[in-house]
Amino acid sequence: METDWVIAGGGLAGTTLAWELLGLGQEVKIVDPLERETSSRVAAGLVTPVTGKGLNVSWRFAELQPVAVAFYRELEVRLGAKFYYEMPIVRVFGSEKERVKWEKKREWPEIAEWVEDGDAAFPETVDAPFGGFVMKGGGYLDVEAFLAASHGRWREEGVLDVGKVDLESLPESRCGTVLCLGAAAAGVAPFDWVPFRAAKGEILDLESAHDASQVMNQVGTWLLPVGQGKFRTGATYSWEPLDAIPTCEGREDVERRVRGFLKADYEVTGHRAGVRPVIAASKALMGRHPSRPEVVFFNGLGSKGVLVAPFFARMLARHLVLAEGIEDEVNLAKILAQSGS
Ligand SMILES: Cc1cc2nc3c(=O)[nH]c(=O)nc-3n(C[C@H](O)[C@H](O)[C@H](O)COP(=O)(O)OP(=O)(O)OC[C@H]3O[C@@H](n4cnc5c(N)ncnc54)[C@H](O)[C@@H]3O)c2cc1C
Repeated sequence: METDWVIAGGGLAGTTLAWELLGLGQEVKIVDPLERETSSRVAAGLVTPVTGKGLNVSWRFAELQPVAVAFYRELEVRLGAKFYYEMPIVRVFGSEKERVKWEKKREWPEIAEWVEDGDAAFPETVDAPFGGFVMKGGGYLDVEAFLAASHGRWREEGVLDVGKVDLESLPESRCGTVLCLGAAAAGVAPFDWVPFRAAKGEILDLESAHDASQVMNQVGTWLLPVGQGKFRTGATYSWEPLDAIPTCEGREDVERRVRGFLKADYEVTGHRAGVRPVIAASKALMGRHPSRPEVVFFNGLGSKGVLVAPFFARMLARHLVLAEGIEDEVNLAKILAQSGS
């Protein structure tokens, strides 16, 4: 192709990277089949500062969050579309033990930065006998809206081709091809030695009388208001089979978890599934192929693509164009060193 870079895959990884390469004056052709049920299109898009059973700040949050928010905000202006929503996130404790753990952690400076003073107040529709706290600096990306706006602009400009790249015979380009295939990259040459731990996730759309403008979050579940009495809730983790087919078990699991704190009636209006490209605990992984340097890998966004993608897409673009370094922690070379290949 007559272009500097071909990007195979137009999910969060490929789309953020394409914007960064274009920003560095590169000519880019991005190729994606625009399938509906991909990890990026199914994702809730949440950016959550304090997460998990351990009540820890998300990996490198203080560095990644400002870059991500500025990235999406700038594109909202350029594309004339709205897709990033800042929103308080309320952690609903699931037990007394969790509340006690929080009392010890809440004053830690790296945590206090992302937490509102005082305890959370809950609407009547939420059952929160152990209380909770409110996070600041969180929000969500309407990923489908972000991709639609980006891809719509690129179709007009001839930057996006709809289709699939033949991975056995990669297209010619002046500088190389970047594979941003998400979980579809698992076991695929020439990066078939990268150890994936991809995880299927299922997510429900609800309509409910629950009235809240905050995300409710409990270990293993969340409830995201998207306006006009509509909500998204999820998400499951399963490892077999890795497909995008919603299941009865998945729906039951999601409903059981959200009923743990949601007292209001609801109706399920949608049910979707996707496969998260997990390699190393939701950290990005990237770099050139060791013997075919014109083929580049950008993947591993795991469960946190919205937060992680902009920062590392910029790092990769600057590596490819300006020969700047890739941090060890996200460098594909480290996988090679570990495997002794
Ligand atoms: C249920 C669920 C909930 C989630 N919730 C969140 C969340 O709240 N917050 C968050 O940050 N993240 C969330 N994630 C994770 C997030 O979706 C991922 O981190 C991110 O979408 C991964 O993006 P990607 O571009 O690497 O992969 P993908 O989105 O899978 O994109 C890969 C693209 O490559 C295309 N492709 C495949 N083969 C070819 C080929 N041969 N040629 C061209 N194109 C090809 C595919 O069609 C696809 O469009 C969630 C994921 C799931 C499944």
